[in-house]
Amino acid sequence: MVEVDDSLLGKEFLEMALDRCIKCSTCKYGYKTFDKTCPSGEKFLFESYWASGRIRIIRGVLSGELEWSDELKDPIFACPTCGACMDSCQAPHADYIVDMIEALRELAVRHIGPADRQELLVSRCEENCNPYGEENSDNEELKKKYNLPDKAEWVYFIGCTSNYRQQSLRDATLRFLKKAGIAFTLIDEHCCTSPMIRTGQTSIVKEYMKYNIAQIEKAGASKVITSCAGCYRTLKRDFDKFGEPYNFEVFHSLELVKQLMDEGKIKFKSSYDKTVTYHDPCHLGRHMGIYELPREVYRRIPGLNLVEMKRNRNFAWCCGAGGGVKIGYPDWSVEISKERLEEASETRAKVVSSTCPFCRTNLSDAAEKYKFDLQILDLMEILDQLDIEILN
Ligand code: SF4
Ligand code: SF4
Repeated sequence: MVEVDDSLLGKEFLEMALDRCIKCSTCKYGYKTFDKTCPSGEKFLFESYWASGRIRIIRGVLSGELEWSDELKDPIFACPTCGACMDSCQAPHADYIVDMIEALRELAVRHIGPADRQELLVSRCEENCNPYGEENSDNEELKKKYNLPDKAEWVYFIGCTSNYRQQSLRDATLRFLKKAGIAFTLIDEHCCTSPMIRTGQTSIVKEYMKYNIAQIEKAGASKVITSCAGCYRTLKRDFDKFGEPYNFEVFHSLELVKQLMDEGKIKFKSSYDKTVTYHDPCHLGRHMGIYELPREVYRRIPGLNLVEMKRNRNFAWCCGAGGGVKIGYPDWSVEISKERLEEASETRAKVVSSTCPFCRTNLSDAAEKYKFDLQILDLMEILDQLDIEILN
């Protein structure tokens, strides 16, 4: 048996693969709906590309029956770790399938390396602290523009995708926080580490977590807010998984909006007279169990008509961007979003809205590439278009 004592992503998850999965194939489709929910299996139509096959790969490489080779790269890395298999599998290990896949990836990185181009997620971070390779922004310009102090009760953790690719979402969030009178500041962020964890590349993860915690502590904050589903999952779950505890609370911007609505503090002076369908980000839905909160918020926006896609909530079809698929398999990644937009078009909605900048990026790329007559907007951007008063 291969020793995996030094696995940062969890020896226990790898060992689970040895005796848990019974190969019943329930994970391949939506539980009882039989809808297609696994983008990887549906694309490659071969056992190794479904959750059950990946578990079998773990079993093989741990027992030594399966030799490491480049042929294993695609079965291991061509999966957006959407977690739909976790909601379909009815066995006791169901909740840990994505943990198992990530732990398998960490092993694979050591033996055969990551999928093509995924190594850039680390090398770009090493140079510029973000996986896009953009010159690092210390966010001092933004602090000046929005007149933010060095220390505050809240830190808005922007996240790399919002800061370098989806600045309208970032700016909409900044304007909302200012309007709401939230005492917040920004820090000189390093990547939250999500892209590295999802692709099993753990070399600088702990260092980055320690750095971000130290920056937040230096700002004197007791609360952190992010408008990114990936940062949210990573801060709330992965810091603890990596043994990097902290003493602040973490919120998604959605939770703040809902709280302000509940307190009657948001007064809408205009309406959003459009039909909108909500795309559940995997990192907020299946990974964190948040399904109804966003729907309650959309329904309370005057004029907004919320309609559901056929596959929604825990059986939503993934946007295809996560798990290193966007960088490693870019054409297929956008194909996955195309299928989501076809489903959105069936609802006759004019707007597809999400609460994650990564979903926004991939859905927008698919809308442009395949010429969909759909607008892709984040919840914060919809709120930004409205005339609202927030009572402090
Ligand atoms: S992962 Fe779960 S659902 Fe899939 S084959 Fe194994 S036991 Fe069955
Ligand atoms: S995480 Fe998603 S794509 Fe990967 S095996 Fe599970 S259902 Fe399929």
